[in-house]
Amino acid sequence: MHLTTNYLVAILIGFSAFNANATETDFWVERRAGMIWEIQATVDYTREETGVFEIDQEVMHSLSRVPRHKFVPEEIRELAYENRPLPVGHGQTISQPYIVAYMTEQLKPKKDYKALEIGTGSGYQAAVLSGLVRHVYTIEIIEDLGKRTKKRLKDMKYKNITVKIGDGYFGWKENAPYDIIIVTAAPDHIPPPLVQQLKPEGVMCIPVGGRFQVQNLTLVRKDKDGSVKTKRIMPVRFVPFTRKD
Ligand code: SAH
Repeated sequence: MHLTTNYLVAILIGFSAFNANATETDFWVERRAGMIWEIQATVDYTREETGVFEIDQEVMHSLSRVPRHKFVPEEIRELAYENRPLPVGHGQTISQPYIVAYMTEQLKPKKDYKALEIGTGSGYQAAVLSGLVRHVYTIEIIEDLGKRTKKRLKDMKYKNITVKIGDGYFGWKENAPYDIIIVTAAPDHIPPPLVQQLKPEGVMCIPVGGRFQVQNLTLVRKDKDGSVKTKRIMPVRFVPFTRKD
């Protein structure tokens, strides 16, 4: 029953995406609607384990508007809307759509929020967030990847995303504090500067675990008084968080 309702929602979202992107070919629009359906189905199948019963409609809407095929290398565009991670060069990956949806949902983004992302990669997660918050600041450590993504986001006219090349361990002090922080590479501990740059009542979603350990997607919440609570929410697999030598 629940699945059926969500299926209808997925179709409606696909349809509204079609209207919003009138110049896009049906081919990609249909595939994207399929991806939305798969995310919805994954939410339904995993609800007992994850405790997430549905993804906010605004988040789903943002996912339905971002042309994921433009964020992956030309040779694998056909695979862009499958619910799996894909290589984006330099040994890095664009996360699985379900994980992007799940992490975005955990952050509870709002229109007036300032967000920080560590691990720009292809820029896909930043693009999804950009439809939900006021501004996204994002940091990539691999210079070539960061430069290419900066150009991609500019060409695609994402005006509320700023990309910086550097080591995200230290965050981005100039624009702090942030309402939400998302880390899309796994460090073996939570970088203290990121906790410092989180606003009171802010939340960070970060995979934590060493190279050969289980990584745990972790939620870090800062209370009004500045005290911090962490909660592990699910085992995940991300590329390692690297450091500049
Ligand atoms: N969010 C990306 C997925 C990125 S994969 C997307 O939507 O496509 C993780 C990225 O984190 C990689 O590009 C990797 O180079 C980057 N990364 C790893 N360690 C980092 C660090 N210390 N600072 C900034 N970026 C880092």
